[in-house]
Amino acid sequence: MNKKTIKDLDFKGKKVLLRVDFNVPIKDGVIQSDKRITAAMPTIKEVVKAGGKVILFSHLGRIKEEADKAKGDLAPVAKHLAKLLGQEVKFVNATKGKELEDAINSMKEKEIVMFQNTRYEDLNNKAESKNSPELGKYWASLGDVFVNDAFGTAHRAHASNVGIASNIKESAVGLLVQNELEMLGKGLDKPVKPFVAIIGGAKVSDKIAVIENLLTKADKILIGGGMAYTFLKAQGHAVGNSLVEDDYIDLAKKFLAESNGKILLPIDHAIASTYADEDRKVTDGIDIPEGTMALDLGDKSIKMYEESLTGSKTVVWNGPMGVAEFENFKQGTESVAKAIVKQPGVFSVIGGGDSAAAAIKLGFEDKFTHISTGGGASLTYMEGKVLPGIEAIQNK
Ligand code: AMP
Repeated sequence: MNKKTIKDLDFKGKKVLLRVDFNVPIKDGVIQSDKRITAAMPTIKEVVKAGGKVILFSHLGRIKEEADKAKGDLAPVAKHLAKLLGQEVKFVNATKGKELEDAINSMKEKEIVMFQNTRYEDLNNKAESKNSPELGKYWASLGDVFVNDAFGTAHRAHASNVGIASNIKESAVGLLVQNELEMLGKGLDKPVKPFVAIIGGAKVSDKIAVIENLLTKADKILIGGGMAYTFLKAQGHAVGNSLVEDDYIDLAKKFLAESNGKILLPIDHAIASTYADEDRKVTDGIDIPEGTMALDLGDKSIKMYEESLTGSKTVVWNGPMGVAEFENFKQGTESVAKAIVKQPGVFSVIGGGDSAAAAIKLGFEDKFTHISTGGGASLTYMEGKVLPGIEAIQNK
């Protein structure tokens, strides 16, 4: 990791612009999960301890019209954070202007000010999401240094990350982002072999770049979920009414041809007659009967995937092996999770989203080495692509 971290900056007496990810689920003004708030606290505390004046900001949901502002209001988050920290968090209900500037300019060391949802600025020609140069420059002018601790938006070039970083003298990544980059880096850039990647989820089209990248790195790629049936159709198997992307059959053929046997596909399936949580029936073989659709790995496939994971030293996993939301079709996903954590000394990383939810539901949160907090950002990392929000931060 060649980016500056908070250890490389001196915060004493400085106005520290700290971009966090407080995009938490809120219902009727009540926070449903404060995980993202607690995840940002180590960095906030460190900067306070170092004598910085902490200026916090985040996006919350999407703001497309005036009416979206109420549900995107960050005020309840500021209140909750103050309670968690046991310290005042002065909330400014503005994203720019005199009230915000006065609040910042009158701050003392170790104080915290938080301003309103950065995406309120999307009502001005999408200034935040389209990284308007004026907005990035303006926000940068409010502080002395910039710290990006919002991993969840690191794959986007917005004014509140890239815009500020490009217009300020000093910048660093926060502790949460640093940890994400170190963990994903260890899993994907310097994997201890054998390295097994597990890719699932609904569509091949969402994971093309991930498969392409992992074909060059992993020893095996286990494919599951809806995307498996495009590959099976490409091999000439019957797929019934299973999810298939016909436009991607040629690409699936190409991947299979280039994979040197690295790609493993299900050899049997749990099927239903419609997309519903019906009784679990398992096929005898690889072909899926007409009038049915495959919603999960079958028992033989589960066994094969468990065996493929035996002895693995690095596992990176993104996407469920079946419709894990359905009670009768969650076995594939859960069995894979159990098989991963059973491997002695394995370095295991989940790239967020539905596979992370399944592992957490099993109570495996602490059994994996790392569960990424950013679905989109970790997917971009798995694609081997640059994360603009990180790229814009100064190198050491
Ligand atoms: P993704 O967001 O690409 O990781 O995909 C997750 C979604 O894929 C979940 O909502 C699953 O229900 C869905 N999925 C997994 N397996 C299947 C399948 N066999 N058929 C249809 N959808 C599936």
